[in-house]
Amino acid sequence: MARKKKIPVRTCLGCQEKQSKRELVRIVRTPESEIKLDPTGKANGRGTYVCPSEDCLEKALKKDKLKKALNTGVSEEEKEKIRTEWDQFQK
Ligand SMILES: [Zn+2]
Repeated sequence: MARKKKIPVRTCLGCQEKQSKRELVRIVRTPESEIKLDPTGKANGRGTYVCPSEDCLEKALKKDKLKKALNTGVSEEEKEKIRTEWDQFQK
């Protein structure tokens, strides 16, 4: 049996599938309470992860999922900002 390298795994907030951390996109609430996309995965703060798929992003932004994951209210403006950052990140 081949030994597998241990890869950190996170659950996608959208589809709840487990994926290697490297495959996922992080959304973070910074210590300044700013909510943003964190493509580097290194920003300080409480983070959550979604697959690099718009479906998963939309699922994560719907209802109170993001709010629960980040333990903070997320306004429509903040959601729009995340979508914009997402679009830029995908290019
Ligand atoms: Zn997903």
